[in-house]
Amino acid sequence: KHEEAMAARSKDDLRSPICCILGHVDTGKTKLLDKIRQTNVQEGEAGGITQQIGATYFPVDSLRTKTNVVNKDGKFEFKIPGLLIIDTPGHESFSNLRSRGSSLCNIAILVVDIMHGLEPQTLESMRLLRDRKTPFIVALNKIDRLYGWKKIDNNGFQDSLAMQNKGVQNEFRTRLEATKLAFAEQGFNSELFFENKSMSRNVSLVPTSAHTGEGVPDMLKLLTSLSQERMTNALMYLSEVECTVLEVKVIEGLGTTIDVILSNGILREGDRIVLCGLNGPITTNIRALLTPAPLKELRLKSQYVHNKEVKAALGVKIAANDLEHAIAGSRMLVVGPDDDEEDLEEEVMSDLESLLSRVSTDQRGVTVQASTLGSLEALLEFLKVSKIPVANISIGPVYKRDVMMAGTMLEKHKEYAVMLCFDVKVDKDAQAYANEIGVKIFTADIIYHLFDAFTEHMAKLTELRKEEAKLLAIFPCIIKPIAVFNKTDPIVIGVDVIEGSLRLHTPLAAVRTNAAGVKEIVDIGRVTSIERDHKAVPVCKKGQPSVAVKVEGPNQPMYGRHLEEKDQLISHISRASIDTLKEFYRSEVTMDEWGLVKRLKPVFDIP
Ligand code: GDP
Repeated sequence: KHEEAMAARSKDDLRSPICCILGHVDTGKTKLLDKIRQTNVQEGEAGGITQQIGATYFPVDSLRTKTNVVNKDGKFEFKIPGLLIIDTPGHESFSNLRSRGSSLCNIAILVVDIMHGLEPQTLESMRLLRDRKTPFIVALNKIDRLYGWKKIDNNGFQDSLAMQNKGVQNEFRTRLEATKLAFAEQGFNSELFFENKSMSRNVSLVPTSAHTGEGVPDMLKLLTSLSQERMTNALMYLSEVECTVLEVKVIEGLGTTIDVILSNGILREGDRIVLCGLNGPITTNIRALLTPAPLKELRLKSQYVHNKEVKAALGVKIAANDLEHAIAGSRMLVVGPDDDEEDLEEEVMSDLESLLSRVSTDQRGVTVQASTLGSLEALLEFLKVSKIPVANISIGPVYKRDVMMAGTMLEKHKEYAVMLCFDVKVDKDAQAYANEIGVKIFTADIIYHLFDAFTEHMAKLTELRKEEAKLLAIFPCIIKPIAVFNKTDPIVIGVDVIEGSLRLHTPLAAVRTNAAGVKEIVDIGRVTSIERDHKAVPVCKKGQPSVAVKVEGPNQPMYGRHLEEKDQLISHISRASIDTLKEFYRSEVTMDEWGLVKRLKPVFDIP
């Protein structure tokens, strides 16, 4: 009797695992989700599948129906009450579902396009899954694109594969093996799901088509068996409240609301809650717990149903005061009778503070801005791996004050006057201000695109610096004009190189003594061409035959007026040019030339 009672009670207390879908863009994440739900539309509401806030709930009955075709003997046992699948696929939802560094997402589907293999975001997703130790299966999607594929809608994969001709089967095997190899290179052992002997050791690959629905029953069965295997029973009982904010939204008539995923425990109307806010902790009371009205009741006035209490796992919208500055990705805590509100406030704020502590201590780095706590964390993690230092972080849209923060780099570390913005809007004034002061703003919805943009930015800067260095690499020379072809603008002269080497870009000067007997330096401009017998040469060294030289520059002096043909010309060197030669061109400067540099120094009063 007692055992029966216990069994009955515990069954009501079970909670459903939460599942996220991740993968590279265009692999079919959205389509797969649609496919899983769509059969539901045909089945009507019989399966009890419910659209929630930010998630779709699949009760065990619907999972049974959907996996029928691969469980004909009914031997596969369902122990979970259902499955909650997060509606927005991708990194953001996944990285926001977290608590104290661990994931509230219990299992995940990593979608890979069988025709493309592993792509950059697949690798990013794998890193996230590994970091959070989340068990996952891989949907090898788009099998219907294998050349010559014959489909049976919503069929089990093994049955469909057996039906294909040899060519299709061979192509499938080839692509499967390539994928397994690619996973191995990333440190994951993987096996085709029905050949996988150990789900804890190998990732299961399940071929699917989001178009034909083939393999989808296998996928759902596999998800169920993975969560049953990897989640201990204890984990599935309702206990302490675990809840995270997925989105902060303004809703007409409700004000600012938060969409949360309750992954464990029970929430009640009136509960006192604590969450992380941009300007400090937010403590408030739940005014309403809202779930979407069922389709058939949409004719009712409100699109939401009010709930007195809700049980994990589910997605629910919360209306309350003071939510304006709530941060998506924040944990939400419920103040219990024995709790100290301040302790809880400190705890929720620690999530933001732990991210703040990650910025570079020498204040040299880029500025990073993201839409949510979770995506900011994921971005920071990625930048750490990519060795890009971060000096400032922020959450939410980019405003002028954020650009000002990034602008503090302009003086000392111009290359870091950059904002890497993930999934956030940039205010118009902020963009205009950034353009004005020279802060670069890069925005992207994909983390690695930001990395690409930054890398390109750095490469451009290095190129620019080299270009600048090129103008500063002044090789020493003394030349003697032997003919003046054009007196000025541009000066064109025939010369012999007496000492050192004459090169393109070298600024030339004549040293004269003026009427008062004072030394005077007459700059004539930079060498823009060197020719011998009408052929361009890059350099003319001491002792080589004469060359014709064109010299250009602003305010050029004129031969016959400020200059005479007999005046020798020398490289106009400087402290900076000597340093540049030492830094970038040491191997190209001869001993003789260093000697000449030494002799030219006093001419230009270089200590
Ligand atoms: P997401 O960016 O990962 O959410 O990808 P989508 O679900 O938006 O799909 C991207 C494109 O791939 C769309 O044009 C889909 O129609 C197509 N697609 C998705 N799944 C399949 C599939 O299984 N087979 C085929 N042939 N096309 C697919």
